[in-house]
Amino acid sequence: MLTDLLKPITSSPARRRVTIGGVVFGGPAVPVIAGPCAVEPEYVTHALAMRDAGASMLRASIFKPRTRPDAFQGMGEEGLALVEKARTLTGKPVLVEPLSVEHVEMLTGRVDAFMIGARSMQNTPLLRAAGRSGLPVVLKRGMAATYDEWLAAAEYVLAEGNTQVILCERGIRTFETATRNTLDVSAVPVLRERTPLPVIVDPSHAAGRADWVPALALAAVAAGADGLLIESHPVPAESWSDAAQAITPETLEAIIAGAAVLAPMLRGHQAAELAEHRQIIDSLDLALGAVLQSRAGAVDAVQRDKRRTGLTVRDRSREQEVIAHVASRVPRLSAEAVGRVMTAVIDGCVEASERLAVSADESGTLSD
Ligand code: PEP
Ligand code: MN
Repeated sequence: MLTDLLKPITSSPARRRVTIGGVVFGGPAVPVIAGPCAVEPEYVTHALAMRDAGASMLRASIFKPRTRPDAFQGMGEEGLALVEKARTLTGKPVLVEPLSVEHVEMLTGRVDAFMIGARSMQNTPLLRAAGRSGLPVVLKRGMAATYDEWLAAAEYVLAEGNTQVILCERGIRTFETATRNTLDVSAVPVLRERTPLPVIVDPSHAAGRADWVPALALAAVAAGADGLLIESHPVPAESWSDAAQAITPETLEAIIAGAAVLAPMLRGHQAAELAEHRQIIDSLDLALGAVLQSRAGAVDAVQRDKRRTGLTVRDRSREQEVIAHVASRVPRLSAEAVGRVMTAVIDGCVEASERLAVSADESGTLSD
């Protein structure tokens, strides 16, 4: 079975669960943290759009570590009031990036977790202050940091007695210039072996371009990422920073659905309690739904070909082969039970494609 083949991904050291305002990283779900690159005056509306798209948590950057000093540096403390309002209205926890020890002190008690950005990964006083705050810390990988350097930076937080650390891969500097950074998907399985800390992935700062974000996000989930951090804006072109890589809430929703389908198929089911077992069942049912939807589409194509070439709609011996093939992959169920399920699936798909053919015929859009 797929999950058995992928045991090396899922059976490495027990993962630590890090919980931020009720959102669990390192469990069976793949939470998505989303929001615009920076908090802007319309942030509350943005946050509601993120919640409606299915985000589990909000990006809420009020201080921006920009490459150039003349670029927008974030709304600062003025933005914090918007973040607090968005947090109350959406009920979602917020992730805020402090750039200094003073920021950590000012934000403690008002936010749910700290993000240490790539540029700050080796700012040791900042790491220590975030550690002392007791709040969970999302530690991004420096753009030219090795895994060992990244883990050593995490130790600065852990050394303060703060065990709530999540690592975030966000792309590294390589010779390639087509993308903003090169997403190092290898970080996920390699770190899985070296640390129990959850590992999440930010595809936005790796891609640098919105249309590449979904592929990188789902690649990260396939690799076993414990969550995603994504830049999204209701009107991407109007983003005050990183507009080129901001995805729409609709795309965000599609990524979240894709992750919910992929994750339970590709990883071990290590649920800790009933609610998590149910979450796994819900995700697997979503995956089943997505597979059924795709299968129905494939059957439509087969039926169109059959009509064109004059073949009969049903080929019972081929159906028996299909059922036996599936039954051989599901030893957990009896062949008879799989037969019942698959017969219903085959009937449903053929019925749907016949309905489609009739309505196409009636509207005169059938080309053959
Ligand atoms: C960010 O996520 O807001 C950010 C600045 O990214 P990075 O630190 O990875 O460059
Ligand atoms: Mn950004």
